[in-house]
Amino acid sequence: MSAVRPLSDSGLLELWERCGAKPPVERSLSLLEHGFPDMARDEIEILDIRTRDRLLIELRAASIGPQLEGRLQCPRCAEWLEFALETEALRHTLAQDPPPPAQASACGGYEIHLRPADSRDLVLAARTRDLAAGRRLLLERLVEIRDGEGLCVPAEAISAELLAEATERLETLQSQSEIRLDFVCAACGAEHAHFFDAGAFFWLEISQAARRLIDEVHELAWAYGWPQSEILAMSARRRQAYLDRIWQ
Ligand SMILES: [Zn+2]
Repeated sequence: MSAVRPLSDSGLLELWERCGAKPPVERSLSLLEHGFPDMARDEIEILDIRTRDRLLIELRAASIGPQLEGRLQCPRCAEWLEFALETEALRHTLAQDPPPPAQASACGGYEIHLRPADSRDLVLAARTRDLAAGRRLLLERLVEIRDGEGLCVPAEAISAELLAEATERLETLQSQSEIRLDFVCAACGAEHAHFFDAGAFFWLEISQAARRLIDEVHELAWAYGWPQSEILAMSARRRQAYLDRIWQ
């Protein structure tokens, strides 16, 4: 697997500016393109979702650090729960039990063939006009029904019952790609599962870091007249030392 290139401060700002208006799936692809320069875009697009998330977490660990901290709300009592995760443990979990590249199972006199979605499928689904159209597109791309003779059944000939069964099996297969975190609420004792979205979490951190960097550039450029490139090339420690002097 190729070597990770951590985000520099200027690289982070450039990505934040370029990808802010993109849909989340495409944002994650751009992050990986930047973070793994040895991998071609095509290679990144066909990664299974667990591998994609594992690389996102690797890039996050190399750029920001090995520990993730976040909070989520208890769905029963609305209390906020703080959590900390080691990126290494997440990467380890994601490296285990990858979903099968394809799956076939019998249903009545038919066979349901499935494959898990990759980023190409998710990019196309995100471009459809609504959720229902996105789901239909994923079904068309990821599911194939074959009759007793192994012939492909055209979409219009598939019964509602068979389609519902295929949809359910596809959802089960897709859920194997998710990062599930189990929590017990400290306030009310409720147990619940949270699905951790590595791309969304990392993007939120990037947005927060970008705003902080822009504030710092703004203050230092205003106080000292230095150009943005020089300010961003400084270490965070040195920038902070100058900022402390402005505020003294
Ligand atoms: Zn609770």
